[in-house]
Amino acid sequence: MLSIPFPKPPTSEAAEALRLEVRAFLKETLADRPPAERALSWTGYDEAFSRALAQQGWIAMTWPKKYGGHERSALERYVVQEELLAAGAPVSAHWIADRQSGPLLLRYGTEEQRREILPRIAAGECYFCIGMSEPDSGSDLAGARTRATPVDGGFRVNGTKLWTTNGHRAHYMILFCRTGENTDDRHGGTSQLMVDLSSPGITIRPIRDMSGLEDFNEIVFEDVFVPEGAVIGELGKGWDQVMGELAYERSGPDRWLSSFALLVELARYLGTSPSERAQELLGRITSHLVVLRRLSRSVAGMLERGENPALQASLVKDLGTGVEQEIPEIVRQVVDIEASPGSDHQLSAVLAHTLMYAPAFSLRGGTREILRGIIARGLGLR
Ligand SMILES: Cc1cc2nc3c(=O)[nH]c(=O)nc-3n(C[C@H](O)[C@H](O)[C@H](O)COP(=O)(O)OP(=O)(O)OC[C@H]3O[C@@H](n4cnc5c(N)ncnc54)[C@H](O)[C@@H]3O)c2cc1C
Repeated sequence: MLSIPFPKPPTSEAAEALRLEVRAFLKETLADRPPAERALSWTGYDEAFSRALAQQGWIAMTWPKKYGGHERSALERYVVQEELLAAGAPVSAHWIADRQSGPLLLRYGTEEQRREILPRIAAGECYFCIGMSEPDSGSDLAGARTRATPVDGGFRVNGTKLWTTNGHRAHYMILFCRTGENTDDRHGGTSQLMVDLSSPGITIRPIRDMSGLEDFNEIVFEDVFVPEGAVIGELGKGWDQVMGELAYERSGPDRWLSSFALLVELARYLGTSPSERAQELLGRITSHLVVLRRLSRSVAGMLERGENPALQASLVKDLGTGVEQEIPEIVRQVVDIEASPGSDHQLSAVLAHTLMYAPAFSLRGGTREILRGIIARGLGLR
């Protein structure tokens, strides 16, 4: 029989004690945040909140203290993430830097890069964006055409990145690009550069999504000079590095809690005597969430042990985003309320946002088809 191992997640009393601390902090800090804003989930942007979180020691939690981190366990970090998302906290400013750019620098960065950048991320003051997708290569990342050509002291970068979340507010982009000759090996000759987004020659154009948000962008590079000190890891090894980064991107609670604010509003609306149909549907979604949580915590344990959970992470993201997308559909089956953005009726406003944003859940971070391809390969079916 085919199976994918999900080792028993670690348990930790320290993490559960921390959970109560985080809940108390969020209850006070987010007291005035209305449900419609909580519905933005991890796309809610608030730099002051990121700095306040940093002061609590809840960014860069697992990193070494010498780089501004707090040397706590992956499970403690997981608990903080889970509570932030369940409460609809505005975490977007620091989220990508904390989740994947910082860990990438820790693993592959030079000592200078680590000392310069990591403490600023840990302080909630330095934000990153992901420069992978391009106009003609999203799923097919190996088809990236943006090129960094060696020049005296560094590189000249030319090309276009697309769908770059927070590109207009981040300080740096981790740019995936070509630095070598095109060869038969499509993955070869690719590298990662840490690009300062205030460099001359960069044009950032916003893209408005269906829900009216302008979170992502098209970013054009025209002869942008990037110093050689900006290379992350080894030139030509970009593909392996970027694949490692994706395990961080795909497995966390941000892949199954994006619609959680809607579930909370639904429960509030239904009160203490929901119909039998509503109980049945809510029960079903809750059981899915319990299983996802178990799987996702298992991946957190694997990351902590230094294992490579790329396969498990793909499975968590595929299953998790499916459930996230099902939640607004279930709400529509249970209540007869029109979804209306900006409505004073909180359930209506939260439903409207979630309905319009939900299609993105199974696109961002890798589409359903691509993840299933990875899972099939992991099972030996391809
Ligand atoms: C909200 C949001 C935020 C994003 N943020 C970022 C970001 O910060 N940085 C970044 O780099 N990118 C970002 N993206 C881009 C995202 O990673 C891509 O949209 C995604 O990888 C798909 O690429 P594409 O849009 O080019 O679609 P395509 O790759 O053209 O795919 C179109 C369709 O074809 C299917 N398909 C493609 N290839 C195959 C195949 N081999 N087998 C089967 N089916 C296939 C896909 O599954 C999809 O359904 C974001 C996207 C969204 C929606």
